[in-house]
Amino acid sequence: MPRNVTVLGAGIVGMCCAAYLQRDGHAVTVVDRGPPGEGTSFGNAGILSPASCVPMAIPGMISKMPGWLMDPLGPVAVRWAHLPSMLPWFLHFRKSARMQRVEANADALRRLLVQTFDAYAPLVKAAGVAEIVQRPGYIVVYESDSAFESDALSWRIRRERGVEFDVLDGPGIRKLEPALSPIYQRGVYILDQGYVTSPLRLVQSIAAQFERDGGKIERRDVRDIELGADGPIALATDAGPMSVECLVIAAGVHSGRFAARLGERVLLEAERGYHVQFEAPGIALSRPINSASGKFFVTPMETGLRVAGTTEFAGLDRPANPRRAQVLLEHAKRMFPDLSPDPRSEWMGQRPSTPDYLPVVGASSRYGNVFYAFGHGHLGVVAGAPSGRLISDLVAGRTPNIDVRPYRVDRF
Ligand SMILES: Cc1cc2nc3c(=O)[nH]c(=O)nc-3n(C[C@H](O)[C@H](O)[C@H](O)COP(=O)(O)OP(=O)(O)OC[C@H]3O[C@@H](n4cnc5c(N)ncnc54)[C@H](O)[C@@H]3O)c2cc1C
Repeated sequence: MPRNVTVLGAGIVGMCCAAYLQRDGHAVTVVDRGPPGEGTSFGNAGILSPASCVPMAIPGMISKMPGWLMDPLGPVAVRWAHLPSMLPWFLHFRKSARMQRVEANADALRRLLVQTFDAYAPLVKAAGVAEIVQRPGYIVVYESDSAFESDALSWRIRRERGVEFDVLDGPGIRKLEPALSPIYQRGVYILDQGYVTSPLRLVQSIAAQFERDGGKIERRDVRDIELGADGPIALATDAGPMSVECLVIAAGVHSGRFAARLGERVLLEAERGYHVQFEAPGIALSRPINSASGKFFVTPMETGLRVAGTTEFAGLDRPANPRRAQVLLEHAKRMFPDLSPDPRSEWMGQRPSTPDYLPVVGASSRYGNVFYAFGHGHLGVVAGAPSGRLISDLVAGRTPNIDVRPYRVDRF
């Protein structure tokens, strides 16, 4: 039965939920304090990688942390003053690195991510932007055989879940991507992977089509949720209350506070990442490249060559740290000897990250009229459309095509 559904958040996840709910005939209103796609969905690497089924927390990873933290060019940084408040998150992260959990979480991730191209296809086709999704695969590069061998567990996890890839030597890598420096000795070319040529235009296009099809997007800052006996009845916003019948919370990194308001404790950290984008790089790539040691992607976007990634834990409210963008710039110059670094722009975004690397997608454990779609961490683009489709199944009372229990909100 059609309902009035309010989606809180116009990022890639919220807009995919809204578009799929609208396809089911619901009257959908999206509310966001900013324009669609200008939160974390703005500046990511745009990778659509069904292969990304290896959780962050795996055996051996925790022991690499001290080395990463000591290295000023390393892929992980922590603002030490923030550490005590993220302790529960970190303890859950450590628990998630046990092998049994890793295997189960990898299965749950793969089931979701493998749907990405199929779930995006109707949305980008309807919006007239099918060309925004490209599927050339991508290459993970290593500077030594031993670095490649130290990732053996990750490649085993992927292979066992049907991910197809070819292992390349140095000349093999440069045959595919001549702009790459000769420092790379090993590459893994993962075949059925893709990317979007502009993450912002993707969200804007889905949002524009949603409005053309009768959906509403309200520009408001949501301050609180008003509760009745059976659940939320209104959103308190800067422009007055908005009544709600059915609510989807897709507010990215800010979702934790709304879940807490509804009595559900989630472990969600702002995992900050950066990008540097080169407007006239003077080099060309045929597909994205992933630096295994630097933990960043280089993507040939329509707006320039974007180098995006790394991790910084510093809480929700601290300003961006320009040194972290500088790290990406240094890596990019080393990776591409002929790179023209100017002009360029920099950006920081906050990944909504759970400690087990799985999103929260599902019904509230407390209220029948609340659904959650957040916590997508590194995977909000690749998992956005599959999550939106799952939410529409759950709101409609249909049985989803995959088991959604691993993504439930009350697992923490
Ligand atoms: C450097 C970097 C690289 C990345 N690369 C990739 C990649 O290659 N592939 C991939 O799949 N993922 C990638 N990600 C992750 C991806 O960007 C995120 O998972 C995704 O953008 C999260 O989308 P979202 O819709 O949940 O959140 P957001 O895009 O942040 O949207 C949430 C929205 O909620 C709104 N909101 C929040 N609170 C309120 C409020 N109180 N009132 C009104 N509105 C509110 C915000 O304004 C915002 O628009 C990357 C992230 C980073 C930082």
